[in-house]
Amino acid sequence: MIASIYKPVLSLRISVTDRCQLRCRYCMPAAGVPFCGHDEIISFEEIKDFVAQLQVAYDVRKVRLTGGDPLARKGIVELVAMLSELGIPDLALTTNAQRLASMAAPLKAAGLDRVNISLDALEPGTFERITRSDSVDATVAGIDAALEADLRPVKLNMVVMQGINEHEVRDVLTFALKRGCELRFLELMPIGYGAELFEEHFVPTKTVHRMLTPAFELTSYPRTAGSSAQRYAVRATDGVEGVAGFISPCSDQFCSDCSRLRLTASGRLMGCLAREEGHDIRPMLQGESSDSLLTTVRQALGCKRSGVHFKQSVSMAAIGG
Ligand code: SAM
Ligand code: SF4
Repeated sequence: MIASIYKPVLSLRISVTDRCQLRCRYCMPAAGVPFCGHDEIISFEEIKDFVAQLQVAYDVRKVRLTGGDPLARKGIVELVAMLSELGIPDLALTTNAQRLASMAAPLKAAGLDRVNISLDALEPGTFERITRSDSVDATVAGIDAALEADLRPVKLNMVVMQGINEHEVRDVLTFALKRGCELRFLELMPIGYGAELFEEHFVPTKTVHRMLTPAFELTSYPRTAGSSAQRYAVRATDGVEGVAGFISPCSDQFCSDCSRLRLTASGRLMGCLAREEGHDIRPMLQGESSDSLLTTVRQALGCKRSGVHFKQSVSMAAIGG
């Protein structure tokens, strides 16, 4: 009898570009950031090789493509098809959905399982204040295309900010429930450009809870190991039901069983969003370094934060949210 080999679970977040169509205030300055040059961006072959090498030693349950905006990377459908060949159980993508209306069906056909979509506001004025773009209609069209293409469950992400979009939490939740999407309320993080807004605009999860009641009844689900979200069954007073989640990196601790590992668009491996330590793995993938990729991965996984504090000056667009 052949003994089955135990493999630790791993969840990968791979940033495929630091470019984006939007300029969300907590993520990028109005003028954008100095983007990586063509030669600095990790290639599709390197990404596939990286995932395949990790599959040898780890149970890679999830790969999430992110950025910047992953739909801003030329050939993203081709990359999804390449990764799909590796048989990853959960192949997902996080996007602002600005380009999703025309890309949802091809992405699904290439093997993408599901999408998370940022939706911080529905009112055009609030959306523009956050993203510096008057294109909320494009995001809503992208959400509808994702549902139509069956990229489900479609999850929506809303970063709640005091004095900016907090007045929309009930409307965005109603929008999500009516479409059968799972809305996740995110706490603003003091990462990169988010640090400048943090003191004035941070809203803790417990405040969002208070804003939702009594219009919505929330019943918590048991926490899923390794998950960053606390999920709730939601029932609105008009009877509409669904699921919502709260991601509370500042007011709660969910790090003890975190199995996430991040690869930036320039090929840096990062074990924790809250820590600046990273390791350039491209020389290993290109055969120019004899350092072991798996040893570097173990080191990265060993550097998770131990408190609720952040020390991260790099923007989310560069790391990959
Ligand atoms: N462009 C895609 C998007 O916006 O969904 C993917 C990349 S974005 C960096 C991933 C997620 O990070 C988004 O949901 C965004 O709202 C979130 N994010 C970026 N900066 C943040 C910050 N300082 N605090 C909390 N969430 C942040
Ligand atoms: Fe772009 Fe996403 Fe950053 Fe907004 S949060 S600027 S959509 S990368």
